[in-house]
Amino acid sequence: MLQLDAHPSGRHFLQIPGPSPVPDRILRALSLPTIDHRGPEFGGLGRKVLVGLQAVFKTRHPVVIYPASGTGAWEAALVNVTSPGDAVLMVETGHFAALWAKMAGKLGLQTEVLAWQGADDQLPAAPNWRRGVSADLVEQRLKADSEHRIKAVCVVHNETSTGVTSDIAAVRRAIDAARHPALLMVDTISGLASADYRHDEWGVDVAISGSQKGLMLPPGISFNALSPRAIEVSQGARMPRSFWGWDEMVEMGRDGYFPYTPSTNLLYALSESLDMLAAEGLDAVFARHQRWAAGVRAGVQAWGLPIQCADPALYSPVLTGVITPPGVDADAVRRLIHSRFDLSLGTGLGKVRGRMFRIGHLGDSNDLTLLATMAGCEMGLQLSGVPLAGSGVQAAMAHFAAHPAGLATSA
Ligand SMILES: *Cc1c(COP(=O)(O)O)cnc(C)c1O
Repeated sequence: MLQLDAHPSGRHFLQIPGPSPVPDRILRALSLPTIDHRGPEFGGLGRKVLVGLQAVFKTRHPVVIYPASGTGAWEAALVNVTSPGDAVLMVETGHFAALWAKMAGKLGLQTEVLAWQGADDQLPAAPNWRRGVSADLVEQRLKADSEHRIKAVCVVHNETSTGVTSDIAAVRRAIDAARHPALLMVDTISGLASADYRHDEWGVDVAISGSQKGLMLPPGISFNALSPRAIEVSQGARMPRSFWGWDEMVEMGRDGYFPYTPSTNLLYALSESLDMLAAEGLDAVFARHQRWAAGVRAGVQAWGLPIQCADPALYSPVLTGVITPPGVDADAVRRLIHSRFDLSLGTGLGKVRGRMFRIGHLGDSNDLTLLATMAGCEMGLQLSGVPLAGSGVQAAMAHFAAHPAGLATSA
């Protein structure tokens, strides 16, 4: 329980991969007086955030905003383009992909789950959630679907449970190579505004995102970005939907309004976040995350602990998963770090619970908050009796010192 009357001194270190720390500027924007969402001023705010979001998604097509967590926008994506009993192909890269597939099943869709079936000595259970989406597997499966029963291919861009960022353009090429009409649906809830994402260029039909990760807002609003084809398909789709329906959202969104009461104060916060991202420039935002990720990985490698992502080409700029040695309960280490040092780390989710923990390095952080995070981890690992090969803090310091911010490339 959060005991507000017994708050520890100093700032809490919220280094989970979402919700990410909320900048003071955004907290202040949230505290402005709520206005009439049907009144004359509101349309300006609504238009501004919708246009600003288009720039972040890199799309010229409509974006909709729901007063819901990311899970709501997942459901919106599925129910707007499918009909009862349709087949969807889901790629299981980790816990979030598995949850989305479970949701599709609950909605009555025929879910088919593709997963890389490998295992290794670190995590023997296959699929072991250490890889990204295999575009080859998607292509093979779609080629075999000659009747075009599969209506959508659903993938997670940045798998927040593992720290693997998949190659979305490769999935689009796979769908095209199979000459298959399935829509491409992408969960970029934790990718957007931290990792490079290009809705139109990559040919994504429906993207899903949320407020509390790269956009640095508190939780509470989520988004769908659409393609003209997704809108066309939605017009013939028969899955029951009302709250999630795109039609009225898109229609009223043209003037910056919503069919029901939006989260007005979170839209103030979004407006502030979009200003901050635009001022820095998205390329600089992505480079900043890549640089932090490289520093944190240098630290984890110095400890001699394996990184959850087994494919260096797909290391996430948003978070790093750290596998603890067999017999060490990663969650007990994480709890100890929280109670001793007031630092929150991400728990292992689903079947990797207890085997790994996650370090978030996104949003409103800086070199020193990340070094403090590494220090909290290093002390917690030592207190838990985990043998470390060397100092991760020293390695991360060396990395940050040798790579000045602003000069880093995304390599
Ligand atoms: C956070 C997250 C979700 C879940 O979003 P909620 O806001 O908790 O509903 C889904 N997918 C990914 C990849 C996420 O990072």
